[in-house]
Amino acid sequence: MLQTVDVGELSISAYRTVVPDQIMEPLAEVTNRLRGARVLHLSATPYGGGVSELLRSTVPLYNDLGIDATWKIISGRPPFFTVTKKLHNALQGAADEPITEADRALYEQTAADNAAELAADPQFPGYDFVFVHDPQPSAVLSFVDHGSAKWIWRCHIDTSAPDPAAWSYLRPFLTPYDATVFTMAQFAPPDLDRTGVNIIPPAIDPLSPKNMSLDDRTTRAVLNWIGIEPDRPLVTQVSRFDPWKDPLGVIAAFRTVRRTVPDVQLALVGSMALDDPEAWAVYRAITAESEGDPDIHVFTNLTGVGNIEVNAFQRMSTVMVQKSIREGFGLVVSEALWKGTPIVAGAAGGIPLQVADDSGGILVDSVTECADALSALLTDPARTAALGAAGHERVRKHFLLPRLLLDELTLMDEVAA
Ligand code: UDP
Repeated sequence: MLQTVDVGELSISAYRTVVPDQIMEPLAEVTNRLRGARVLHLSATPYGGGVSELLRSTVPLYNDLGIDATWKIISGRPPFFTVTKKLHNALQGAADEPITEADRALYEQTAADNAAELAADPQFPGYDFVFVHDPQPSAVLSFVDHGSAKWIWRCHIDTSAPDPAAWSYLRPFLTPYDATVFTMAQFAPPDLDRTGVNIIPPAIDPLSPKNMSLDDRTTRAVLNWIGIEPDRPLVTQVSRFDPWKDPLGVIAAFRTVRRTVPDVQLALVGSMALDDPEAWAVYRAITAESEGDPDIHVFTNLTGVGNIEVNAFQRMSTVMVQKSIREGFGLVVSEALWKGTPIVAGAAGGIPLQVADDSGGILVDSVTECADALSALLTDPARTAALGAAGHERVRKHFLLPRLLLDELTLMDEVAA
């Protein structure tokens, strides 16, 4: 069953205090032209990972702006999500698991089933815009009447060097879209027709439970309660348990850092998303590697580490780490910087958009560089504070949610013209 996700209520006016006028004013103008429009967002999971994080805040804000937005999750059996994870990995360049005939049949059958459900929905003919997020639901359009709606494929991953077989399989499903959106220009596959390609980086919601301000006492109490010692230096990585996020590389770097900063603690905070069957294998590899090491803490959403806890980790860590090898945007980077915490991060995907040299943190390309950067920041509180403050300001200007809304509404306005 296609599932409609319930979201809360948000008010755009609350963002005026944090977001620059240069964003709020044009947002009000473009909203005037789109008021009353009906928008559907289609994605693969209601929680876990960046896409759900974004939609949970943008959908209620669309509604507050007078644009009628609905968010639906496609349905699929677990083997479908095994296929889409393979496709996701192959589109990010992995070539070790080819997409088989049986995989294609399952992918297309699931798309057709979801398309049939969508077509049966009485609301369906009324949508003016349909945003389809990532590869999992992208074939739905090939099995449903395009109608008068504008269909936009919103790709959140790095497809700059896809496995050729996977890309040539997916490409025909994208042809009927009116526009595509990538996080960075270089993410669009080289042979994709550039007309209709748009570039929109994601953004974070500064007022969500994950990013809202928390006082120091609450932050310490939250982390103390789950076993972190608030007075010891802390390094944390928050990310889905995914090989591209290199959690084992983080553990290796941490063990080097501990030689110079003996009282440092490491937290690996990860979530198990519905559409991510690989997560358990990565989780088992992490727990095996950290077994018996009292300074390495592994937490998941299944053991109660939710938004407030992630907020507390990002706020109280001395330094955050995001050692990604491949990355879409990496929302966790802006989340950390917004809290004034600097980050040591892999120079992958959208991370260099968020972390410039000496603004926000240090970019790294290996375990050794990661360990060196962490040691440097853990032993230099003045530099750590300056990087965090510069990072916060960078996020305020470029990566808060109203800027994303402005870009999406501007695109809708252009596509509709
Ligand atoms: N996240 C979370 N709990 C976790 C791990 C991740 O809430 O245990 C959130 C994280 O705060 C961020 C999102 O999931 O908002 C991950 O987005 P990102 O763009 O960094 O990576 P993606 O998962 O989309 O590859």
